[in-house]
Amino acid sequence: MLTHILKTDSQIPLKVVDIRTRIPIGEITYGDVWKNAGHAVTFTRANCLKCDACRVEDICPVNVVHVDPDTGVDFDQDNCFHCGICVSQCKGGAFLADLGSVEIAGVNHPIPVTLRQSNRVKALKAATVLKDQIKQGIFKITAPVGKINFPE
Ligand code: SF4
Ligand code: SF4
Repeated sequence: MLTHILKTDSQIPLKVVDIRTRIPIGEITYGDVWKNAGHAVTFTRANCLKCDACRVEDICPVNVVHVDPDTGVDFDQDNCFHCGICVSQCKGGAFLADLGSVEIAGVNHPIPVTLRQSNRVKALKAATVLKDQIKQGIFKITAPVGKINFPE
């Protein structure tokens, strides 16, 4: 039954560490990271300043942003990872997303999310497809790795 493998985002704990020291400063959940956050990053061409050197082209981890001297920025949205790093790096605010923030006990302000390591857009699509396949018996969850024993 799918209930045996159900684990919600709020049940997945995450440690928050100080980026300078890597010392943990608090605990949140995966659900906190995505709470009220937008999933997708968008590009608004009208905001592009056509900078001499495009920071986004330089920093995009999956190289989906290229600058053509004649036509300007070319953004391959289908292959964008929605990591969000371009949002803080784009000088003109052409790349936009509400990346959300997290709150930690003892810290007096929300901590903004500036880089995500998960592609929520594609993860949700994949999860929906997989769930349907499991329900229809097309995907056998024990087949690839043998019998899985779930803790009670
Ligand atoms: S950094 Fe932003 S505003 Fe500047 S060229 Fe790149 S996309 Fe356009
Ligand atoms: S969200 Fe990440 S992957 Fe997508 S364009 Fe921005 S930097 Fe590149």
